[in-house]
Amino acid sequence: MIRPGVPAPNLAPLLGREVVRERDGVRYFELEARSLMNRCTSEYVPFDWTVNPYRGCAMGCRYCYATYSHGYLGVEEADDFHRVIYAKKDSEGETLRRLARAAHRGELVALGTVTDPYQPGETELGSTRSFLQKVACLRGLRVGITTKGALILRDLDLLKTIHGRSSLHIQVSLISLDRSLVRRLEPLAPPPEVRLEVLSRLVGAGLDAGISITPILPGLTDAPRDLEALLAAAAGAGVQRFFRGFLFLRSPTREKYLAWVEREEPRLLPAYLRAYGSGSRLKGAYTTRILATVDRLAARYGLTNEHMGPVRVPPRQLRLFP
Ligand code: SF4
Repeated sequence: MIRPGVPAPNLAPLLGREVVRERDGVRYFELEARSLMNRCTSEYVPFDWTVNPYRGCAMGCRYCYATYSHGYLGVEEADDFHRVIYAKKDSEGETLRRLARAAHRGELVALGTVTDPYQPGETELGSTRSFLQKVACLRGLRVGITTKGALILRDLDLLKTIHGRSSLHIQVSLISLDRSLVRRLEPLAPPPEVRLEVLSRLVGAGLDAGISITPILPGLTDAPRDLEALLAAAAGAGVQRFFRGFLFLRSPTREKYLAWVEREEPRLLPAYLRAYGSGSRLKGAYTTRILATVDRLAARYGLTNEHMGPVRVPPRQLRLFP
């Protein structure tokens, strides 16, 4: 249900009423924006600017941490994050001005921090490509892109230009090689083999592309043999970098994801309720053990993690999940 103006009344006049794309039960509207670039001052993330050409994301991931963000548009139903999507239409001049400022100061611009820039609607709406065309006009930028979408290959020409003029790092998200599990968890995202092929082609084109194993899902994607198969496949695609992180369950993602677990993986529900009973993040020996396992396996296949310290195996291992 959409209630324009709740709780962000200043956005109500900017919300388009006309559907600009409709397919598979997903409706896209237009959203006027001063610029596609938003200043980011959080001390918890490494970037200075975030760019999300869409609000909402049709990929439909059951664990999507960004579901809360639709609340700022007055969209109250959690699943509408995946069904009611806004494509931003910016003032080109202001976006170019902010890009120039970022280039001048050497600031990091992150594309796809909250929603996927290559989600299905991008095929026709082209908001991401339009932004990258501006990026490609400048030199000296630092740009990161995160996506699950194979459509990124459409923009290979622009990405190569940007790579030649600026610093560009791409992360393709893939949490498992299990096709059926991925289908259930990420209904409209491309299957694992397609994402591996995307990685292979990005690397083959000379671009800096890594795999993002985020979020690791306790009891579902955390088995060492599965993580090893995933890292081996990424290495086979020519990938040299990885990133990893655990499931983050803030409301309304928490309710949405736990309802999915109850429906599809009921054996895991008690462990999830225990582990996430008092917070949105997992902490303790279990996470340390799994992250250390990922780092050790990644090192075995020659993958490095920029954010990673020395690999240490925890002295005591606690088993929260079967
Ligand atoms: S692709 Fe990313 S932003 Fe889109 S639904 Fe999945 S987790 Fe959320």
